[in-house]
Amino acid sequence: MASEPTTRILIPYDKVQERIRELGQQIAHDYPPGSVVLIGILKGACIFLADLARAIPAPVKFDFMAVSSYGRGKTSSGEVKLTKDLDMSLEGVDVLIVEDIVDTGVTLTYLAHVLQQRRPRSIQIAALLDKPSRRMRPVQVKYVGFTIPDEFVVGYGLDHAENYRNLRDICVLEGGEL
Ligand code: 5GP
Repeated sequence: MASEPTTRILIPYDKVQERIRELGQQIAHDYPPGSVVLIGILKGACIFLADLARAIPAPVKFDFMAVSSYGRGKTSSGEVKLTKDLDMSLEGVDVLIVEDIVDTGVTLTYLAHVLQQRRPRSIQIAALLDKPSRRMRPVQVKYVGFTIPDEFVVGYGLDHAENYRNLRDICVLEGGEL
């Protein structure tokens, strides 16, 4: 009989919060007050965005997009589709894409391309986690929470088949039939 997967803490909640506070200060320092619009990528980035927005000691706006990727269990097929678009115009604003994790870079390459066409003043990326060892497309991530090894992580918004998103810590999912 197949064993159930188990979770092992990789980055505890307090460390995540500490790093997000630093990123918030850095973002506030880098942008004129009130200029930045955070674009959260659903669903994985929603918890990161909620904490990051409150860690920026300046006015920010935010909105959400959703994308789906085809043909992947844990690997990307390279095909990405927009499934929920923004409500607001990005013309002339400083866009900061807020993503949970950069893996192959396929999703962010697609999103940056889509958002560039909306004529923002600037586009940068904030990713809570970065797995550089798996990169297939070059992506410039200006704000990285943590660089992690090539392991499948869940928690703090990240899922496996929609489970584990509400775990407080970032955990490695081990065993079972992943
Ligand atoms: P990329 O297009 O960079 O390969 O993939 C980015 C997306 O893949 C992330 O937004 C996330 O949804 C998913 N992903 C990549 N690595 C992981 C991981 O370790 N855990 C989880 N839960 N999702 C991942």
